[in-house]
Amino acid sequence: MSLGRVSLETLPPLRDVLAEHGLMAKKAFGQHFLLDLNITRKIARLAEVGAGDRVIEVGPGPGGLTRALLETGAQVIAVEKDPRFGPLLEDLAAAAPGALTLEVADALDADEAALTGGQPGHVVSNLPYNVGTALLIKWLTGPWRPASMTLMFQKEVAQRVVAPVDGDAYGRLAVIAQATSHAAIVMDVPARAFTPPPKVESAVVRLTPLAERPSPARLDALQKITAAAFGQRRKMLRASLKALGGEALIEAAGLDPQARAETVDVAGFLRLADAWLAARSA
Ligand code: SAM
Repeated sequence: MSLGRVSLETLPPLRDVLAEHGLMAKKAFGQHFLLDLNITRKIARLAEVGAGDRVIEVGPGPGGLTRALLETGAQVIAVEKDPRFGPLLEDLAAAAPGALTLEVADALDADEAALTGGQPGHVVSNLPYNVGTALLIKWLTGPWRPASMTLMFQKEVAQRVVAPVDGDAYGRLAVIAQATSHAAIVMDVPARAFTPPPKVESAVVRLTPLAERPSPARLDALQKITAAAFGQRRKMLRASLKALGGEALIEAAGLDPQARAETVDVAGFLRLADAWLAARSA
């Protein structure tokens, strides 16, 4: 049977590959593996990538999601911090000639533009939970802008990304994600789907960039404002934003002086960012 552009069907089951290489999950690297190819193929389908696409996968580990991505015909650039997976992933690269590149590196330090050769790229990953939020903020606000992101998070983080204003999960992550992207939870994944199972449930979030992304200066200001506002989310904004302009800033943004961070929508935060930038340049 030929699966897409590459034939990977002769590879042994992932459990056997792990056993053959004597590999066990390491907690320090946030390793919880997806060994069921039905699940990884579903994630690859949800990512909507295929032949001609460049995909950065953070943390391929034993390569279950990597196999599914390669089956779509995509060009996969895998960034893995744990060098123990090198030989196993070299075997996978040999089964998909020319389609898989491996970088043994920390994804937090990766230069994605260099990895994709200056071409547009997507990110698809079952993220290590300890650095998931930091990586998402890097891709949402940094100089390299992914064409789409399909990311597994612990469910509570996924809910914080898509949270509506006024909800319990609404905070900095929701504002920054939604000021830059369309974001939706596209799949729930139970803890038992992973080896070893984590203590929490998981979910896959898909993010696609808004046509108009705020400028770097606006994003910078948004990060400052949301850090101060949600740092003291129970306080009124005029108190939590005192050091950044307090009431004058809130008035310039056209907001209620009684407002608290959790009641201000994304557009309101963008107006606060603009008011702060305007006050600084005045
Ligand atoms: N993709 C595999 C799967 O679905 O079975 C493994 C997912 S596991 C949740 C996270 C992976 O990310 C592990 O392979 C781990 O070694 C790797 N990892 C952890 N921190 C990393 C970092 N800072 N940069 C790159 N990879 C990292």
